[in-house]
Amino acid sequence: MDICSIKGCNNGRKYANGWCSTHYIRWWKYGDVTFTKRDTSPRRVPVNPVDLAYLAGLIDGEGYIGTSCSYKDSSYITLKVTMCDKEVIDWMVATLGGGIYIKNPSQSHHRIGYTWSSSNKNYLRELLGAVLPYMKLESKRNLIHDFLLS
Ligand SMILES: [Zn+2]
Repeated sequence: MDICSIKGCNNGRKYANGWCSTHYIRWWKYGDVTFTKRDTSPRRVPVNPVDLAYLAGLIDGEGYIGTSCSYKDSSYITLKVTMCDKEVIDWMVATLGGGIYIKNPSQSHHRIGYTWSSSNKNYLRELLGAVLPYMKLESKRNLIHDFLLS
C-alpha cells in the first residue's frame, strides 16, 4: 500500500503530494505539513487611536466577517484579514497577537495569501467594539453592530 511520506505518519493511504489527507490538508491550509495547533497566544486590543483607525481600514478593505446569529447560544463570528503583503499581517500579529496562516495559491498565477484570523467571540467583542467607531463601510458596520448586540 502507498503510505504517507511524512516520517512516523501511520495515517495510511496517500491522498496527494505523497501525503495522507491529514498532512495534505494541513499543508494546504497552513502552508506547513508539521503544523499541529492553532496559535493560542493572548490577543490584545490596541488602545492607540491611530492603530485602531488603521485596523478599521484593513477590516473595511480586506476584512471578512462571518457571522451566524440565528440562535443566541450558538452565535458564531469569525474575522479574517487576508493580504498578499506579508508586512501588513506581520503588523497585525505584532499589534494583536495570534499567528499568520499561509494559503498557497491554488493556481500558479495567484499570489500567496497571508491571513490573520480569530473566532474568539469574547475577544472579537472587545476588538470590534474598539474598532467600530473608525469604520466607514455601512455593511460591515451593521454586521459588527448586530454582533455586538447579540
Ligand atoms: Zn500523513
